[in-house]
Amino acid sequence: MENKLEKIVSLAKRRGFVYQSSEIYGGLAGVWDYGPLGVLLKNNIKNSWWKKFVLNREDVFGLDAAILMNPKVWEASGHAAGFSDPLVECKKCHKRFRADKIKEENKFGDGKCPECGGELTEEKQFNMMFKTFIGAVEGTASRIYLRPETAQGIFVNFKNVVDSMHPKLPFGIAQIGKSFRNEITPGDFLFRVREFEQMEVEYFIKPPKNDEEWQTVFEHWRSEIHSWLESIGIAAENLSDFEVPKDDLAHYSKRTIDVFYKYPFGDDEVVGLAYRTDFDLKNHKLDYYDEESKERFVPHTIEPSFGVDRPLLAVLCEAYTEDEMSGETRVFLKFKPEIAPIKAAVFPLLKNKPELVAKAREVYEMIKKEIQPVVFDDNGNIGKRYRRQDEIGTPYCVTVDFDTLEDNTVTLRDRDTGEQERVKIEELISRLKI
Ligand code: ATP
Repeated sequence: MENKLEKIVSLAKRRGFVYQSSEIYGGLAGVWDYGPLGVLLKNNIKNSWWKKFVLNREDVFGLDAAILMNPKVWEASGHAAGFSDPLVECKKCHKRFRADKIKEENKFGDGKCPECGGELTEEKQFNMMFKTFIGAVEGTASRIYLRPETAQGIFVNFKNVVDSMHPKLPFGIAQIGKSFRNEITPGDFLFRVREFEQMEVEYFIKPPKNDEEWQTVFEHWRSEIHSWLESIGIAAENLSDFEVPKDDLAHYSKRTIDVFYKYPFGDDEVVGLAYRTDFDLKNHKLDYYDEESKERFVPHTIEPSFGVDRPLLAVLCEAYTEDEMSGETRVFLKFKPEIAPIKAAVFPLLKNKPELVAKAREVYEMIKKEIQPVVFDDNGNIGKRYRRQDEIGTPYCVTVDFDTLEDNTVTLRDRDTGEQERVKIEELISRLKI
């Protein structure tokens, strides 16, 4: 589909999913705000993840660590020295690029700016952590960072969680929260941004005696990643696994698989899975005492690392559908009902008939007690109201008409097929498959 991403960006803005940050002041590159429907969608995605990876499991504990941390954390983790991308600058237009990314494009040839063909500077390493100061005095002693990953908040709380919860290995600690990366070239809407959310699990295992021991756990998480992505509505055939070559592995990783989604701009990473070995706990000088074997050792870590924004963008791309209905082109978002921001809409057939409006309000209140959020809409003709709900992915529309007043039935319309059927009001809740 031509310009699918542009259509999604425009729909997202128009209907209140995603706005450009600080738009009235010209925006801020690589930063986006979630609007009323976007925040509902985002919360549904985060809740579904939390439910699968924390609430439904006995071996994973939740955490919510602060964004600001002692800068020693980033020295121990290797981020102060190594969390960088190779940067080049165009001597003519002064735009900056990631050297590794423009090599892939190579439009004007090696060493040339991909935008204007100008000469590029030598590569230099650019640390992607945002820096700020803590307290009243600004200087090197008060310099701190906005965290570039949520993982370190988990590692530095390892001992706290062990002391409070007494978990036996293997076990995991999970958290959802903001991360910040000063990306050199943000772009592709929500795909590469400078402020985003991550959902990470650090899963701790005994030091493996052989490769098979960690590989089994790695495979478990690989399949869990796929099963969750599919559960939020991403088709299996649009996902693929990319084995990161040894030379490109992050400083902490022995093996990484990037799970790719087929975005409109190409296949790219939506979730990462890494075997971080004992790198982090060892560097933070943390270990574990095993009551059974009476041994002290440093556990190893398998890390499934999800963004929130990239899966959300994948869900939007996957859901965006154009079809033909009643002789007109229709745009609709085919969200899974569990993920849809609005679950159902209730309409009185006519706005100016008080008895219809009163009955529709009654039905609306009844559904709202069981399923949320539900909206009430009496604006414009029914066809327009259906289109408005289709465009934001509401799976069901319920219309109250004159027959309702006689026989207590309503019209239930299905978003995907447009089919309508009469349903008894008392059966309505059980018919809404959320
Ligand atoms: P890339 O190679 O695309 O820069 P990465 O390998 O640095 O990504 P990880 O460090 O593995 O990414 O981060 C884990 C997850 O966090 C990613 O799979 C992605 O969902 C999310 N993420 C990372 N960087 C960004 C970003 N700049 N914008 C949005 N999400 C991000």
